[in-house]
Amino acid sequence: MTSTAHRPASLSQLTSPAVTHVERLPARAGTQVEWPAWAHSAAVEAFQAQGIPLPWAHQATAASLAVDGTHVVLATGTGSGKSLGYQLPVLTRLLDDPRATALYIAPAKALAADQLRAVAGFGLPEVRPATYDGDTAREERDWIRQHSRYVLTNPDMLHHGMLPGHERWATFLRRLSYVVIDECHAYRGVFGSHVSHVLRRLRRLAARYGGSPTFILASATSGDPAGAASRLVGVPVTAVVEDASPRGAMTFALWEPPLLPPSEEDLPAVRRSALRETADLLTDAVVTGTRTLAFIRSRRGAEVVAAVTRRQLDEAVPGLGDRVAAYRAGYLKEDRREIERQLLTGELLGLASTNALELGVDLVGLDAVLICGYPGTRASLWQQAGRAGRAGAAALAVMIARDDPLDTYLVHHPSALFGRPVEATVLDPGNPYVLGPQLCCAASESPITKADLALFGSGAQAAVDGLTEAGALRRRPTGWYWTHTGRPEVDLRGTGGAPVQVVESSTGRLLGTVDAGSSHVMLHTGAVYLHQGVTFVVDDLDLEDAVALVHQEEPDWSTHARDVTDLSVVSVRSYVDAGPVGLFLGEVDVTNQVVSYQRRRLGSGEVIDTRPLDLPPRELRTVAVWFTVSPPALEAAGVEPPDFPGALHAAEHAAIGLLPLMATCDRWDIGGLSTANHPDTEAPTVFVYDGHPGGAGFAERAYETAAAWLRATRDAIAACGCEAGCPSCVQSPKCGNGNNPLHKPGAVAVLDAVLTNLP
Ligand SMILES: [Zn+2]
Ligand SMILES: [Zn+2]
Repeated sequence: MTSTAHRPASLSQLTSPAVTHVERLPARAGTQVEWPAWAHSAAVEAFQAQGIPLPWAHQATAASLAVDGTHVVLATGTGSGKSLGYQLPVLTRLLDDPRATALYIAPAKALAADQLRAVAGFGLPEVRPATYDGDTAREERDWIRQHSRYVLTNPDMLHHGMLPGHERWATFLRRLSYVVIDECHAYRGVFGSHVSHVLRRLRRLAARYGGSPTFILASATSGDPAGAASRLVGVPVTAVVEDASPRGAMTFALWEPPLLPPSEEDLPAVRRSALRETADLLTDAVVTGTRTLAFIRSRRGAEVVAAVTRRQLDEAVPGLGDRVAAYRAGYLKEDRREIERQLLTGELLGLASTNALELGVDLVGLDAVLICGYPGTRASLWQQAGRAGRAGAAALAVMIARDDPLDTYLVHHPSALFGRPVEATVLDPGNPYVLGPQLCCAASESPITKADLALFGSGAQAAVDGLTEAGALRRRPTGWYWTHTGRPEVDLRGTGGAPVQVVESSTGRLLGTVDAGSSHVMLHTGAVYLHQGVTFVVDDLDLEDAVALVHQEEPDWSTHARDVTDLSVVSVRSYVDAGPVGLFLGEVDVTNQVVSYQRRRLGSGEVIDTRPLDLPPRELRTVAVWFTVSPPALEAAGVEPPDFPGALHAAEHAAIGLLPLMATCDRWDIGGLSTANHPDTEAPTVFVYDGHPGGAGFAERAYETAAAWLRATRDAIAACGCEAGCPSCVQSPKCGNGNNPLHKPGAVAVLDAVLTNLP
């Protein structure tokens, strides 16, 4: 087969057998409404001056709910103008009441900076907006506390700065009318659970000073936005989800790279790489004059796609390759502007970019978008696809599946992508490993009274009792006190001890942090570590100081940690007894030790060597979902006893791969264990557990949606065209056992046995 045999002559034809689905999304006319009667005329004029004659219906609906004092979440698509939905009530209030204040919280500094630019651009001097974050100069901070009426910040600054120093914010908090929480879908998992308590602490302190703000949240489209927002803030929140903004028609194709003929008899079948497919599609697009942007997850991948595309174009028409470029975070602003300009004028026809482009870059005038690999959530998928479409003209998007069970499932089950939101934002304010430290923070800000306990949830009473017994808090008639010197040290992004800092040796630059729980797997000595599309290699992991020293390098291998896991059941929280099948949710103790790692050649996956590691075992008390199937039921389903371990192991891998379909987690958030006979269940068992101490809500979500989750898992395996299992179905890139044993047909049989018995 030549490399072009399956390629369509033009993107618009989409007749290739690699296309598994074509979705045609019709154009939608927008619905405008009058400005609400309560809106301040100066605010309305400010929007009109920005070229917004009238609001869309969803903007006005959300804004009016907020003005009535209803906590509201606006969960609509990218580019639907969510910001007007909160800016209109906030500005109106600040203009109507010269003393009122408002707080804006975004998950990233860059978003707060964007918001500042937008609000400052309205030319309403009495609003005095200001960003207040780690970069704010000390002398500015005093001015902001005293004079700014619209403070723009992030959860970390709230947690480390504003709440502990609340006395200095007393006036601001007393007059606090609105709290805006932008991009609230970012608050998920352990981080989201922490932020939910930061917001409860904010509500408690505001109430101390007499403030009672209304919360306005903005979210990407997601499953159950009202439920997630209510959990996040701790009060009932009403959702507005009907998007009334206009949209051009879009054709959205799903693309599965073909299986290559096996090169050697006993090697597993592999698919043509998604990068090569993306380069071919980009080449075709440029040849036909289609302005196209390709999203690739790593910078290295983006550069490969750009280089291959340029070479193919130059082979076809010498010089045509110059009209394609790579684009990534880290480019200077001037370089970015130049690329944006060239794309707008048509000098550039193709661009290969990392996902960094999602944030804050203004690219318009594209005809098509190629998405190399599912970006993890529908929100990101639509954000990327939404780049296509010139002034309402028809647009094209193609998602190219990588070798991954979730990608494979999605290209064969388009209904999981189109027409309905699939992911719910999951967080768990009840996690004792989050609740305890957060109650210490609250007590250090102001003693916790009996009446405060309800605010922090049903586990709060037991938690303060435990903290008092352990000596962290002291009980007095007026409440629970933090009596230690200094403030409690609590990191919003972790629960398993101090997060590990990733530091570039040569510059001392802090690249980021990794949760302690993932550090052994991701940052062991010799590990290849990807940060914002740039590849680094770990020189040394210092567990004592929680620092990993890295240097920039692009080796032609990847690394894969090998580990041994032991799991015991502590208690069962809930279960379903289905005869030969059991489904359980409960606490477990997991002991995991990373013992070695493999280096594998990029591209071929050939194992170069296996190197030992000397890391201590890690112990984790967490929440797991598990199912058991009796041996007779397995045999009745057609699995022979010698195949039990491989069948269960394969089912475990695929189940972990498909869980992001039900909840916004990624593979680092969850772990698994399967065994043909577990001492605690005395049956063949598959466990899937939250990778964070105390759990982050993922196992619970899996338990609640078990039938749909395991049905999707079964279908994903059965639909894969490979013979004996591949990375698209039952192989896992993070398997601690090197993907051995795996029994693909057995996995389908195991899941059939579970699904026929589960009610
Ligand atoms: Zn497969
Ligand atoms: Zn495994």
